[in-house]
Amino acid sequence: MDLERVNALMEEWGEPGYRQRQVYEGVMKGLAGDYEQLTPLPAALRRRLADAEPLRQLETVESQRSDDGTIKLRFTTRDGFPVEAVAMSHRNRRTVCVSSQSGCPLACTFCATGSMGLGRNLAAGEIAEQVTVLAAMLREQGERVSNVVMMGMGEPFLNYDAVLAACRTLNDPAGFGLGARQIAISTAGWVPGIERLAAEPLQVKLALSLHAPNDRLRTELMPITRRFPLAKLIAACRGYRAATRRRIFVEYLMLDRINDSDRLADQLADLLGRDGFHVNLIAYNPTGSDYRASSSTRVAGFAAVLEGRGISASYRRSHGQDIDAACGQLAVKGASELRRKRARDRRRAAHAAALPAVHR
Ligand code: SAH
Repeated sequence: MDLERVNALMEEWGEPGYRQRQVYEGVMKGLAGDYEQLTPLPAALRRRLADAEPLRQLETVESQRSDDGTIKLRFTTRDGFPVEAVAMSHRNRRTVCVSSQSGCPLACTFCATGSMGLGRNLAAGEIAEQVTVLAAMLREQGERVSNVVMMGMGEPFLNYDAVLAACRTLNDPAGFGLGARQIAISTAGWVPGIERLAAEPLQVKLALSLHAPNDRLRTELMPITRRFPLAKLIAACRGYRAATRRRIFVEYLMLDRINDSDRLADQLADLLGRDGFHVNLIAYNPTGSDYRASSSTRVAGFAAVLEGRGISASYRRSHGQDIDAACGQLAVKGASELRRKRARDRRRAAHAAALPAVHR
């Protein structure tokens, strides 16, 4: 919800200050989806608020469930941008994966979101709301969100302030109350963001999408490498490690015959050194590109090289592949929506420009 706007309205109407707290708790703790559920508020105020400002900022346009229990939601913002979020079950964990931007400007070659370009940054309220909407759905089946990861659409560090504000909100014990260590931010390697996070009091986890151990290969896969080469990136990670004493979770996508050889595993070990990193080998999910996932024997071989070099490595299973909810598959549909929206906006702008100024 747009809490600031709701608070401003209540102030304008002369409502007592404690109403703001009641609304906040009702939404972040009680997971209310509409004003009628905010029972501590007088009925007249609930109606007045409902008329003035919808409680939810995002409209859910589609909800899918996968055979493995993964839930994927597609939303649109009020100004028509597509947003996607996913809830995954793994043993006793319920991890919610949310978007920080609609689309993404970084154009990683293996990622579906990258091919759609950037729509816009999401506001803190829009980021937190993806979590509360999924939390309310999980609650209906008797489950709670145990982890939140900023691994949906977008590059979180290109929207740093809103992402951190959303993390603080989710962490607030008076509201949603999720432990900071249960929240992870994943970056494609935006160095200024890593440096800022190192100085942040909030103890969220940092994940780094690395995917290649040398600049040449990484630039092919992730154009951001041109701006922040590996030497700079790893230096920022060491700075983060020195400042926080926290480990960094390295994500390494296993692409058949691209980045999965023993030689590259050795290079990766040279790059990372013995401590400070945990490597998560992740399965490639098809996105319509020419890449293929590495075989499981190749993944095991790659992991063995890392472990032989004293680096802890694990293999991440894929969730929700059958509903395109897996990593890198978000926005498969959102892309066409974003294109339609751009065309619509252009038509409107052209129309407005054609009108005499007084009618605009
Ligand atoms: N921009 C941030 C946040 C997005 S996280 C980042 O890059 O970390 C999404 C994760 O899914 C990243 O680790 C990304 O590299 C990975 N990913 C992207 N496309 C994928 C694909 N097709 N299969 C598996 N993982 C993919």
